[in-house]
Amino acid sequence: MKKLNKFKKEVEKCRKCSLWKTRKKIVFGEGPVSAKIMFLGEAPGKEEDKTGIPFCGRAGKLLDNLLKENKIDRKKVYITSVIKCRPPKNRIPSKEELTACRKWWQKQIGIIKPKKIILLGRVAFNTVLGLGELGDCRGRWLKVKNQLYFPTYHPAAALRFPRIKKILEKDFKKIKENY
Ligand code: URA
Ligand code: SF4
Repeated sequence: MKKLNKFKKEVEKCRKCSLWKTRKKIVFGEGPVSAKIMFLGEAPGKEEDKTGIPFCGRAGKLLDNLLKENKIDRKKVYITSVIKCRPPKNRIPSKEELTACRKWWQKQIGIIKPKKIILLGRVAFNTVLGLGELGDCRGRWLKVKNQLYFPTYHPAAALRFPRIKKILEKDFKKIKENY
């Protein structure tokens, strides 16, 4: 945990892309260093920017419910995103921003060494795996360079589309079976 806290302090000073100018708080991520499972989202939203806590807004509430319904303890998993500072108006992060921030989540994976990584949404999926369409790969475990990944939809998409929410609920059952 010490290592993770020290690293957090380092990231909190980051100015590697222009998002540092508009952020209120860096959203580093939260969870124990012993976490077996890591959730990777896209980028902080308004609430996260205000509090520094990942997935604490509306999408976060849905994530909380999905975890609870499947008896996955949020306190035992690690939750973060591929971008640590809120993009203005929640726009999609640019290639440059994603590249600048890459080192941080890669280092988090290196420290935590999760057995499984859940990729929430297209941006996390493309950024981490770059394997084409999320729709073709989601809902199953993929082993890439000896790391297990499970791509699925982002909870924010599920809030907009009931059809996506149903699929996300099914996908979380598969995550649970393997938890
Ligand atoms: N959406 C994300 O992808 N990450 C957060 O931390 C919050 C909302
Ligand atoms: Fe640094 Fe990432 Fe924030 Fe950009 S988004 S300033 S790379 S922490």
